[in-house]
Amino acid sequence: MQTVTTVAELRQQINMWKSQGNKIVLVPTMGNLHAGHLKLMKHAHHCGDKVVCSIFVNALQFDRSEDLKTYPRTPEQDLAALQDENVDLVFMPEHEEVYAEEHQPQQDIPKHSLNEQLCGEYRPGFFDGIVEVVARLFHIIRPDVAVFGEKDYQQLIIIKRLVQDLGFPIEIEQVPTQREEDGLAYSSRNSYLNVEERAKAKHIFATLLDVKNQIESGSKDISAIEKQAMDRLSQAGFRPDYVAIRDAKDLDPASYSTEFIVVLVAAWLGQARLIDNILLQMR
Ligand code: AMP
Repeated sequence: MQTVTTVAELRQQINMWKSQGNKIVLVPTMGNLHAGHLKLMKHAHHCGDKVVCSIFVNALQFDRSEDLKTYPRTPEQDLAALQDENVDLVFMPEHEEVYAEEHQPQQDIPKHSLNEQLCGEYRPGFFDGIVEVVARLFHIIRPDVAVFGEKDYQQLIIIKRLVQDLGFPIEIEQVPTQREEDGLAYSSRNSYLNVEERAKAKHIFATLLDVKNQIESGSKDISAIEKQAMDRLSQAGFRPDYVAIRDAKDLDPASYSTEFIVVLVAAWLGQARLIDNILLQMR
């Protein structure tokens, strides 16, 4: 496994692989890798010939509600885990390398109202920061395939649209959420939970399952189901930002004719803002 920090070294290797006819698969991460990330690496091997993982904590997507400096960083463990997953190349650049002027996306990125909804409403500028870094990474690495987790569902939909808007010749692969035994989705932010909070955290997935059951058993009052789920989370000790029942294709509000539904939740527990979602097929 190669580890590179500069775009020049990265390009040299990628160009060589491409000239040999290899299909390049990118898995972008912010490091502090857990079983969810590793599931993405495993999936990536099925999508092409060479797996590239980027580890880059993107300053642009942090706001005052979460400190960039205290985001967990575990580079040595990450490299050992990626080696075990047979990753071919790890790209670990500094901020200045990614944000150099020459790596700016060549076209303007269209602004979409979805960036300001759901998590975007509570974290202003968050998705603009994600779109900017992903466009730069796509431009720098030029992968054939990029792999993202369903765990960050709004991010996934926004990136699929970015690829369409800018015409990147990149296939987007999505991987289901990897969960701990009690249903809590793996997340780097779970490390912000104390023992008591960690025990309560399972209520997020339990609430999602409950919403799924209600919809599947024919409940039609979407806003009543959302409100009930918010109340349940509050009673369990969370400070929920939202519970939203949406069309899984585009995150528009769900209607009776929606074929695929996603139920999304964001809720604070102590210092951690946890997000999760569940997908349902209606027909
Ligand atoms: P992050 O390092 O948090 O930016 O996440 C990097 C990638 O891993 C994103 O595509 C996430 O959606 C994905 N991911 C994070 N947690 C999970 C999980 N529990 N299961 C599957 N994918 C995940």
